[in-house]
Amino acid sequence: MKVLAIESTCDETAAAVVENCGEGVKILNSVVASSVLMHQKYGGIVPEVAAREQIKSIIPVITESVGEDKDSIQGVAVSFGPGLMGSLLVGVESAKALSWAWKKPLYSVNHMAAHVFANWIVEDKNTEVPMFPAVGLVVSGGHTDLVLMKNTKEWEWVGGTRDDAVGEAFDKAARLLGLPYPGGPEISKAVERVTVQMKERFGSKFKLPRPLFNEDSLDMSFSGLKAAISKIVTTLGSVDEKTRDVLAWEFSEAVIEILIKKTMLAVERYKPKSVLMAGGVAANKQLRENLKMAVEGVGEVKFFCPELRYCGDNAAMVGAAAIIAPREVKPVNLKPDPSVTTV
Ligand code: AMP
Ligand code: MG
Repeated sequence: MKVLAIESTCDETAAAVVENCGEGVKILNSVVASSVLMHQKYGGIVPEVAAREQIKSIIPVITESVGEDKDSIQGVAVSFGPGLMGSLLVGVESAKALSWAWKKPLYSVNHMAAHVFANWIVEDKNTEVPMFPAVGLVVSGGHTDLVLMKNTKEWEWVGGTRDDAVGEAFDKAARLLGLPYPGGPEISKAVERVTVQMKERFGSKFKLPRPLFNEDSLDMSFSGLKAAISKIVTTLGSVDEKTRDVLAWEFSEAVIEILIKKTMLAVERYKPKSVLMAGGVAANKQLRENLKMAVEGVGEVKFFCPELRYCGDNAAMVGAAAIIAPREVKPVNLKPDPSVTTV
């Protein structure tokens, strides 16, 4: 089946054409337009600006993705939430209109589940896909969830953050350190600048807490880390570039240690065949490498993480979700749901 997929939950406007390939999904094209730079001067997403940019971009993005291939498309998929209401409306209404005009089935996709289904994107028929049961670690700007997946549709929420999402924590910590929005990639760049000598010299001076680390639960908490950074910055008065980078490194270490500890606790509890990471924060190099090492250290468990370009918001993952776990819906019944949960 060949599907046109649409994504417009936040500040990315995206469309992709995908089709099934072996047990996975092959991407025929994936187009993404982003308004992220427009939000930089405000230090975060401005919903009205994001929605206005969605309206400007949606038709050019869909047109580029579909190209001359309209007649071979067999269905239309769209993220219906979670996200910003104004942004969601643009994608959902466009998908409904196309489904109706082309007389093709419409598939509703939960955006957070779509992040997880990015792990089914394959190069060819021989690419390995995840096996069930699986544990999913969903890490984004708005969510931090541990999910037990029995199959493509039966998912159970088993843990996650009690307060800030991990991406939000990266963004807020970066802001406190004077780094631009979005903070996650900026903190990663700062981490790369920290030398062994800097770690030895300053590392222990700025030890941050690891909240809930030793608790026998899959709960996580990141807001205390942000508060700890704020306290250090206030106490110091001003932060030079080296101190800023060392603080960013220690913050990143703390967050990654918590995520790995809780994911491995879920692995111990649920004995999955695969662990799947997904969401914007899954682009973090240290997290990818360290979690892969931890998971593959446990016997036969396989680790999956999407290619970098499919970690952030994109429509290819929405198409993958519609093919692997289709949920057909009548256009008249599909409404955006800004606060739908991952499970
Ligand atoms: P999403 O909500 O899935 O669109 O992902 C956006 C979030 O991912 C933002 O909070 C970013 O700061 C975060 N992010 C992106 N790249 C990285 C990275 N390399 N390390 C940590 N967080 C990141
Ligand atoms: Mg997202």
